[in-house]
Amino acid sequence: MQFKEIPGLESIKKTLIQSVQNNHVAHAQLFHGNIGSANLALAWAYATYINCENRVGAIPQDAGLFGSVAIDIPKDENDSCGRCASCAKMRKLIHPDFHHIFPTATTKKIKEAESDAYLPLWREYLTEYPYGTLSDWLTFIGVEGNRQGNISAEEARKIIGKITFKAYEAEYKILMIWQPEMLNLSSANALLKVLEEPPAKTLFLLVCNDANKLLTTILSRTQRVSVPAFTDEDISTYLSEKQGVTQQESQQVAYLSEGNLAKALSLTGVQTNEIHTWFANWMRASYKPDLQSLVKITDEFDALQKERQKGILEYSLSIFRDLFLWQNGATDLVRLQGEEMTFVQNFSKAVKPQAVELIVNELNQAFHHIERNVRAKIVFLDLSLTIAKLFKK
Ligand SMILES: [Zn+2]
Repeated sequence: MQFKEIPGLESIKKTLIQSVQNNHVAHAQLFHGNIGSANLALAWAYATYINCENRVGAIPQDAGLFGSVAIDIPKDENDSCGRCASCAKMRKLIHPDFHHIFPTATTKKIKEAESDAYLPLWREYLTEYPYGTLSDWLTFIGVEGNRQGNISAEEARKIIGKITFKAYEAEYKILMIWQPEMLNLSSANALLKVLEEPPAKTLFLLVCNDANKLLTTILSRTQRVSVPAFTDEDISTYLSEKQGVTQQESQQVAYLSEGNLAKALSLTGVQTNEIHTWFANWMRASYKPDLQSLVKITDEFDALQKERQKGILEYSLSIFRDLFLWQNGATDLVRLQGEEMTFVQNFSKAVKPQAVELIVNELNQAFHHIERNVRAKIVFLDLSLTIAKLFKK
């Protein structure tokens, strides 16, 4: 992973790079960001940068008889080179000085719930989903039902084992701990011990979503790297450039995903470009009201997968929230464009603000009912009739 592969976040990238160039690398750092942020990707890019044999100011590796092979690769001041031997190993996550600890659970195939047993899957997963969530990971490795992952006591011994040896190839040994929230008490204490008396030339990169779940003694020994959420623009550019999503769809998805790239990527499979058309039809039928059409639309809704049904309700909620903001004069907070913006402008004249507030409540309730498996047909028809009534208020 290189910095330039991560969309946006220029300022935090710069801070990280400068810390290396100025020799101010803290031995324990906490990359803290919301779910779907770049916290893990940044830690990975940072570790890659530190280990790059060819970065500006890198200590030359033992060049051997034939001199350094990296010498001819042009240096990029603001990133790892991506081409030296270290960068290649970092990309494949096979660098012998880059260690990983992450939550696991036993599955049908793998009976040992510890990071080493899952390493091949972990490499595959991170390469494919560097912005993935814990539940994505657990699904990926085949953990069934509502079982949670954790970082076991066995890992604690590994933590110590992995860092007592000298680095093999790089200047630093780097231990990346993903979701340290899932450390059990015994692992957390083992980690604390090494954080208190860190071995030389060892870096700990903790990558977390919820710092409140960490021991305060761990927090006080790590330097915080606050990773902001992606902007709408970062997400839509990423989707259109890297995922081949059309510009219109990528803007809609960016708007819906609220800075969460994991969510954005899962939504792009859902063809959101159709959502607005569907939503606009539904609203037109409710506004008239055209009962025959509403029954037909309800049947369509009922036939959709539950995730898609939730997606439609979430989308409707965000549009009505923007409608509410628009009516209350907070027009600069409304991030919509194109047809969606036209919808908000038209409906803000036709529907009273009190009704909009009630519709938001109804949509919220419908969302929760769908989530709790109440019959979609009943929920949706009821919702449509209530919205039709509120429109006339
Ligand atoms: Zn390199």
